[in-house]
Amino acid sequence: MKHKISIIGAGSVGSTIAYALLLKNIAAEIMLVDVDEIRCRGEILDLSDALPFCGPSLIHAGSTKNVQESEIIIIAAGKRQQPGQERIVLLKENKKIIESIMRSIQPLRKDAIIIVVTNPVDLITRYAQELSNLPTSQVFGSGTFLDTQRLRGALSRKINIAEQSIHAYILGEHGDTQFPVWSCARVAGIPLSDFGITQKELDRIAQETKNKAYEIISCKGASYYGIATCVAALCRTIIFDQKRVTPVSCYIKEFDVSLSMPVVLGAKGIEQILTIPLNNKEKKQLNLSIKALKSYAA
Ligand code: NAD
Repeated sequence: MKHKISIIGAGSVGSTIAYALLLKNIAAEIMLVDVDEIRCRGEILDLSDALPFCGPSLIHAGSTKNVQESEIIIIAAGKRQQPGQERIVLLKENKKIIESIMRSIQPLRKDAIIIVVTNPVDLITRYAQELSNLPTSQVFGSGTFLDTQRLRGALSRKINIAEQSIHAYILGEHGDTQFPVWSCARVAGIPLSDFGITQKELDRIAQETKNKAYEIISCKGASYYGIATCVAALCRTIIFDQKRVTPVSCYIKEFDVSLSMPVVLGAKGIEQILTIPLNNKEKKQLNLSIKALKSYAA
């Protein structure tokens, strides 16, 4: 039986997620939904040319009414940033789009999992959680998973160790108040400073990580390969019940916001939110993220 995955929003991000899923050979039935039916048809026709080289997946267009059967629903619909714009400027318009989508996809399967990608992702995730009629463990955002991969990639190039072996996280808002958790960053339990990297270099890497989306958007108008590969990895983790520790935007009751923390991800969605130890500086940075998200949402 094929896993049913719906992608709502077949723009640059949504269609590239479909492509990344095909390349992962997950054997999924992928449905793309977009208000722009012509664009969606074009993406389906183009993606179907990749099928002969991928596993036994199916890809087709559908409407929000057909989403009800899906095990995983990915939301990538909405406006994207223009060069130099912050993600938060998208809030008003994308909130409206998400509200209309969440209403039109009801009722969902009780075990459905929703992955939100639309920006500003932490706030849009929170709206989706509120409107989904699902437990918050089943509705989360891609959050700082992408930023964390960017950070690990940059560290890997600096210390010449595979990124999979570097345990380092960007947490908080997927936006300007995100922060690196240097106090817990380790390779085989060894602090990064023991690999000849200075705090100044670490700070520069964190800054470049934060600005990378702006740089990509200023060069080519949009970013999609990285986020699409991250979302396909999230789907794989869910489908194969991998229990991987992944930073995603999740609802934290104590703070009453959705932001990124490391979670254990499996077939049921978020199975555990891990309390990562933070030093005083990082606690302050987390509070800044919480404050910023609450002020935007107000
Ligand atoms: P895009 O303009 O290429 O595509 C957006 C698509 O959404 C369009 O095809 C549009 O027709 C569709 N859409 C709009 N309203 C809809 C609705 N009600 N139902 C179905 N489809 C609808 O934009 P993009 O580059 O694909 O970006 C999509 C979103 O992803 C943006 O909000 C962007 O900021 C975000 N994004 C997030 C991350 C992340 O890390 N979370 C990374 C990159 C982009």
